[in-house]
Amino acid sequence: MIKLDDAYDDGNIFAKILRGEMPNITLYEDDKTLAFMDIMPQAVGHCLVIPKQPAVTFLDLPDDASAAVMVTAKKVAAAVVKALDAPGFMLAQLNSSAAGQTVPHYHMHILPRHEGLELKFHAREPEDMAVLNETAEKIRAYL
Ligand code: 5GP
Repeated sequence: MIKLDDAYDDGNIFAKILRGEMPNITLYEDDKTLAFMDIMPQAVGHCLVIPKQPAVTFLDLPDDASAAVMVTAKKVAAAVVKALDAPGFMLAQLNSSAAGQTVPHYHMHILPRHEGLELKFHAREPEDMAVLNETAEKIRAYL
């Protein structure tokens, strides 16, 4: 259960990814942010941008880190749209279990959208690593 006033727990999966303790398929990295493939994508090309600064929700994240996430999200979303030839995309960011948040480290979802193509269930079905790597390579070509 993730609550709005939770203290940051650095045992969460994204903290482990940031420390290099868990594998991840990186798309882009700078001093303040990391962008990588979501392993249970709701659409082909679904990826995440996280701040390196620890924060559970949007309310905990200092404004400069928040701004850095948006700058990276714009860069990566532009690449995702080109790589997937997507006519649209969604940015989504969930705060607390009540809103559907499952990982207690702030993150922005980037979800390419195509007319008539429904999103898959949230955080439900792991994608094959080879497929994720192939999609990541296409996205990186535009970064
Ligand atoms: P939230 O529910 O917190 O908004 O989103 C968490 C996202 O992280 C989900 O879309 C889920 O598929 C993804 N996710 C969960 N565990 C991992 C993981 O170990 N690696 C990666 N790359 N994504 C993960």
